Amino acid sequence: MRGMRRIAPASSTKGARLARKAWQLLHLDSARAITLAREALDVATRGVELAGQSWARLAIGYHLLYFGTPQEAAHELRQAHELCTHLNDDAGRILAAAGLARCLWREGRFAESLNLVLPLRDEGLAVLQHEQRGVLLNTIAGCYSAQGRSEQAFAYMYQALRDSGPAHGRGYDAVLHCNLAHELLQIGDYHEALRQLDQGISRCQGIHNPRLLAVLLINRVICLTELDRAQEAMLDVMRVRSLPADASGRGALAAHFETLAIAALRAGEPALGDELVQRAMDAPRESIPDELVELAIARALQSGQRQMWADALARLDAVMHLVGAEDADAAEGLSLRVRCQYFALRSELQEQLGDAKAALATMRIWQQLHMARAQMASRARYQAAALQTELLRLQHKLDEQEAQRRATERARAELEEVNKQLSRKIHEVQSLQEALRQQATHDALTGLFNRRHFNDALPAVFAQATRHLEPLAVAVIDLDHFKQINDRHGHLAGDGLLAAFGRMLAEHCRQSDVACRYGGEEFCLLMPHTDAATAQRKVHALLQLWREQSFTIDGQTISGLSFSAGVADSRRAPIAAQLLLRAADEQLLLAKKLGRGRVMVDGEDAMLPF
Ligand code: GH3
Ligand code: MG
Ligand code: MG
Repeated sequence: MRGMRRIAPASSTKGARLARKAWQLLHLDSARAITLAREALDVATRGVELAGQSWARLAIGYHLLYFGTPQEAAHELRQAHELCTHLNDDAGRILAAAGLARCLWREGRFAESLNLVLPLRDEGLAVLQHEQRGVLLNTIAGCYSAQGRSEQAFAYMYQALRDSGPAHGRGYDAVLHCNLAHELLQIGDYHEALRQLDQGISRCQGIHNPRLLAVLLINRVICLTELDRAQEAMLDVMRVRSLPADASGRGALAAHFETLAIAALRAGEPALGDELVQRAMDAPRESIPDELVELAIARALQSGQRQMWADALARLDAVMHLVGAEDADAAEGLSLRVRCQYFALRSELQEQLGDAKAALATMRIWQQLHMARAQMASRARYQAAALQTELLRLQHKLDEQEAQRRATERARAELEEVNKQLSRKIHEVQSLQEALRQQATHDALTGLFNRRHFNDALPAVFAQATRHLEPLAVAVIDLDHFKQINDRHGHLAGDGLLAAFGRMLAEHCRQSDVACRYGGEEFCLLMPHTDAATAQRKVHALLQLWREQSFTIDGQTISGLSFSAGVADSRRAPIAAQLLLRAADEQLLLAKKLGRGRVMVDGEDAMLPF
């Protein structure tokens, strides 16, 4: 089902291809991804390919989310968002918005981040696939996680992991194992967290993403430290410590030296602990509460190693405002895990200072937090199941809509086909009607009008001429000795001659004339606005033309053709059209009698002016 869902149009320009490739390599090979993305941006900008630019900036923005500052990432993602919106590229737009939400998240603006990304959830699930869905769902999860709402975070993370399994995850599945482990750490399920981390770390073997590996290792260090196995974490600490702080390594801002320092100090490695605390203090810092409190814990442990208990406690006091005593809500953005760690150490130090009462009170807070954590863990299981049902329902709805859309499309296609057939049929009927009309009024051999049409037209043309006191001439033409032609050359040759005569008449008649084959080798011409004398001249000219024709049929030449014609006009027969025709016919007979090959005109007065 998912495969058929709408995806952003694949642009085939070079910049767009490079940009897509860069996006796909984002987690598989971070160094190659950024090189490709910058090349894509260059190519796309030079070629003014907006689609290429948008995805190049998207890939660069996401890369900077890991390797740069949130401000640098946001700068690229805002442009990607604008371009994708302009191009109606829904997938790109949603991913850009999710990236911008992550920028806010990185700046500690968790509520704003969630407000930006959560409204995109349903549309995102309809538009995105595989690791892109994972990116969206994981962003939502991250926001919930940062707000301490582990149960919501879990549900989204598990869903994200399902959508971007190893086959389609493009390495993003390793990111999700990592985040899932981080969340499991929050509710104190260190064993399951360790399992997820080991899965993520082994997935990293096939890919080149040192920064991701670093984060996985840091989380592993946390797990082992919390499980009182800090010693075992030292190898991981050394691995992270040796990664360069640039795009070829762990990136500038992902060091978490304070976390590593705690592990080293807990493992009884004071020299390494001191070095790591120093590096943590030197690192550029964003105001992420977990990091600030962990740094304070590390420094307190440092003082503790030197038995400077009061000094150690003072380190913890300095961040008390971030931890918020018993009031859980006062500690926004601070994880339960770090709070537990804080109060456990605080109680330890108070005990060392001989303040048993304070130590006990602090222990109670720790206990309450621990219970809250246990409750959260069980709630998480329930909530994850509920949200999963909700997401499944949404998926079901999307599938249904898709099926409906396809059914509608099918129906529309069928209707279109029926319409096409119908208009083909209408066209057929129309041309059939046209052919019938043609057949009813025309002679098939010559293409001229037929006798029926002539007889229909004659009274109307005659009435018109009489009403306007205008002359109307009629010529009746009969081909001479036509029987001989048939006899000598065959009936087909005769037909050919008749057709040629028809063409000649049609060519030399005016638009307003009516030329028809009256029957056999006899033709009629109806000439409005023409008197008999003019008509005679015209017909005589036609006779000349006909005489000049010669035809070669089966190697035999036919020439010396002629016709006889009789002409009359409406002044000789003002009463009835049929009389006019008869007058012309009489002249034809006369022409035949007088020796053929001539045009006779009805009456002397025909020559008089009309
Ligand atoms: P005349 O000069 O006196 O008109 O001599 P004619 O032979 O033309 O006249 P007649 O009336 O004796 O013969 C007419 C001939 O025209 C006979 C007939 O076979 C031929 N004819 C009539 N219609 C057609 C036709 O459609 N095709 C062919 N090939 N011949 C036709
Ligand atoms: Mg005849
Ligand atoms: Mg004849």
